[in-house]
Amino acid sequence: MDENLKEMISDLKSYLEYLKGMGISSLPTSEGYSEKTVRSGILTLAEVQKELRDCKRCKLHHARKTIVFGEGNEKARLMFIGEGPGYDEDVQGRPFVGRAGQLLTKIIQSINLPREEVYITNIIKCRPPQNRNPEPDEIQSCHPFLMKQIRVIQPKIICALGTFSAQTLLKTDTKITALRGKFYDLEGIKVIPTYHPAFLLRNPERKREVWEDMKKIAEWLNNHESVKKME
Ligand code: URA
Repeated sequence: MDENLKEMISDLKSYLEYLKGMGISSLPTSEGYSEKTVRSGILTLAEVQKELRDCKRCKLHHARKTIVFGEGNEKARLMFIGEGPGYDEDVQGRPFVGRAGQLLTKIIQSINLPREEVYITNIIKCRPPQNRNPEPDEIQSCHPFLMKQIRVIQPKIICALGTFSAQTLLKTDTKITALRGKFYDLEGIKVIPTYHPAFLLRNPERKREVWEDMKKIAEWLNNHESVKKME
């Protein structure tokens, strides 16, 4: 091995030993904080949002008005993840506030939960032009931040709304019709995909299936009351 490289490795080892001695056992990654730091509960959503800053990591920043980070209870047991902001969300900077959002609020309330008690966000945080589908590079750019949101909140259940959300979270290209209504695992968190509220606005006859999925969520949460979050 090159002598310079050997020396560098030895210096780095000594530095890491020194940090260890100071009680520092994890280091920030290129995206900011290490997974361990995020999971440790030290990091907050405000810090994740701060790390996003005025994000220009993908092309969506050119046309967006606001970054729609997400909103709700930082200690939510139930988290909803949609696709991406539309016109109303882009203007207001809040997720699910347009027509689909109003329907989502009713869906949440249908299991006796106020909207403020859950956490709501999207796979991508910026509105795609003309509300087109999110592209792989855009989903990729946002993904580390979505995962940090999930790791900070540590919900018991994630309800994935629609194809893009379900397929991204579960790393699959299986159709939403086949995925919906079943529980999957993401880092120990239950993920249940269901239809997107915008799809329900166009296909109201599919609401019954979403109702079935919501009942499964409510049942699980009620049966695991003791798995409450610490206040
Ligand atoms: N559709 C989504 O997927 N997310 C929103 O925030 C609004 C509409």
